[in-house]
Amino acid sequence: MSIFKPDRFLKHYRDLDLDVLKEEGVSHIFMDIDNTLAPYYEKTADKEARDFIHKLQNAGFVIVLVSNNKQERVKTFADSLKLPYRYFALKPLPFTYRSLLKKYGIKKSRAICIGDQLLTDVLGAHFAGIRVFLTKPLVDKDSFSTRINRRIEKLIMRNWQ
Ligand SMILES: [Mg+2]
Repeated sequence: MSIFKPDRFLKHYRDLDLDVLKEEGVSHIFMDIDNTLAPYYEKTADKEARDFIHKLQNAGFVIVLVSNNKQERVKTFADSLKLPYRYFALKPLPFTYRSLLKKYGIKKSRAICIGDQLLTDVLGAHFAGIRVFLTKPLVDKDSFSTRINRRIEKLIMRNWQ
């Protein structure tokens, strides 16, 4: 299986099946922000994202936001959800994910990553040995650096079913 290929595809974060995750023994969810939980130009989480995060927390999952974006953006967004976060995560480098596994003292199999980009979220999770679910980007608008990544994504995904 290609290192780029997500372990699961989701149309939207709301399609995450919590019962399946529980059965699989997942306890921690490392989530991307931009275009996964909110468009990059929205400073705070909307009601749907807040309700979703509360649902995950009520089901017993630990959520950490993991973003390549800068501190101010990530902190402001994470604070609107009262979630722990890692900014400037340097995905696809695996170090941030690995340090989270260590911090929480969990095996790779207890975590999943969720994100919207192959070249950062999917590759980074797989380099760290963690499963990753790919969501469709929430909106068509991307930041400049992401627009370049999208072109490469298209080339990679061309050969998929
Ligand atoms: Mg993203």
